[in-house]
Amino acid sequence: MKALSLWQPGATLIAVGAKSIETRSWQTAYRGPIAIHAAAKYTAALRHLAVTDPYHQYLLGHFPLPFGAIVAVANLCFVCPTEGVAFAPDMPPHEEQFGDYSPGRFAWLLRDVKPLRVAMPCRGRQGLFNVTGICRVCGCWDLCGCEEGCAWLAPDLCTACIAHATDKELNAFDRKH
Ligand SMILES: [Zn+2]
Ligand SMILES: [Zn+2]
Repeated sequence: MKALSLWQPGATLIAVGAKSIETRSWQTAYRGPIAIHAAAKYTAALRHLAVTDPYHQYLLGHFPLPFGAIVAVANLCFVCPTEGVAFAPDMPPHEEQFGDYSPGRFAWLLRDVKPLRVAMPCRGRQGLFNVTGICRVCGCWDLCGCEEGCAWLAPDLCTACIAHATDKELNAFDRKH
């Protein structure tokens, strides 16, 4: 599945549901499942941000923050110019502060965010990159499967999430078993 790397505390803010829009200087035509990766890089300024409200209030209980790891899976459902974003009452209350909405940038709207029970170590890359071995729906992964037990149904879907399988995936799975 596709993955996007963010500096902390942005990645964990998404994982905990405090941030549903990622802002970028570039856009993409891609829509669909996306893994949220916390970059390994951390600066003094970001470290300071993480212990300052409104950031800190959402991060309590999540320190030490994960770095160099996937922290959530989500669905990238919409990308639009930042000028077109209307902050609705049903959005997280500090959404606007958790992004850079300067003109000329793009807002990436994320839905169906599922935090990983245990962050999955993974090297980050520029732009959208590919990751394997993680369920696009529930975020379980090879060393941290679903509590009720699961196996791979498709390369990015586990058997506990069979309700989300496409017909093509179900047919391919049936043929193998
Ligand atoms: Zn799953
Ligand atoms: Zn699973």
